[in-house]
Amino acid sequence: MSPNEQDVQTILEETGDLDTLGLLRFLLSHYGDRIALASSFGAEDQVLTDMICNISTSARVFTLDTGRLHQETYDCMHATREKYGVDIRVAFPDRQQVSQMVRQKGPNLFYESVENRKLCCQIRKIEPLQRELTGLDAWIVGLRREQSVTRQELQRVAWDDANGLIKFAPLIDWTEEQVWEYIREHKVPYNGLHDKQFPSIGCAPCTRAVAADEDVRAGRWWWEQPEHKECGLHWDKRTTA
Ligand code: SF4
Repeated sequence: MSPNEQDVQTILEETGDLDTLGLLRFLLSHYGDRIALASSFGAEDQVLTDMICNISTSARVFTLDTGRLHQETYDCMHATREKYGVDIRVAFPDRQQVSQMVRQKGPNLFYESVENRKLCCQIRKIEPLQRELTGLDAWIVGLRREQSVTRQELQRVAWDDANGLIKFAPLIDWTEEQVWEYIREHKVPYNGLHDKQFPSIGCAPCTRAVAADEDVRAGRWWWEQPEHKECGLHWDKRTTA
């Protein structure tokens, strides 16, 4: 049976008291291969990958290779595969759509307008994401509420209306300090960009290092206003908890 919005309330009642690891154990047991972790190889994703792989190395983990990622992100992907033996599914954009977009608007179209940037994100991220989510009941993401102004209303369990499935954010209330404590304590491989003042991991042309007093996501699409700074992967803010 397909997931629906009413399932969220049931899941909330069953998982409300569970800590992060307890929630992940429940999710993998409850959903099996009908749930997947979406990783962009940021620090939060690595915490979740470590926890999930310690429960089951056959858990479904996927990433979106937009074709514009940093080398450090591929290095992190490689190190993660080596350490956990996890089969990371890599979703690529449709090559004809990319080819047509670049021919019509050029390789750096995203700097010219929000509309162009969203088109690029749609082709390189959203469409591959929708392909990966097809057939799933739920997905797991590494979002934290304190990451940006666009994420203040996010909840640990929510109905993802845009994709028609349940979205879990097990680290929603974690602080940045908690994330890094976990990484150090458990010797989790992490993205080398974090050592170069990149707190948020994205595509190379659209992400830059930030100063110590800047917002965590200030380096993403830095030429845009803060309220525009989502790529569309996490648009739906309707929440139920
Ligand atoms: Fe394109 Fe930038 Fe979006 Fe990556 S983040 S898909 S390069 S617009």
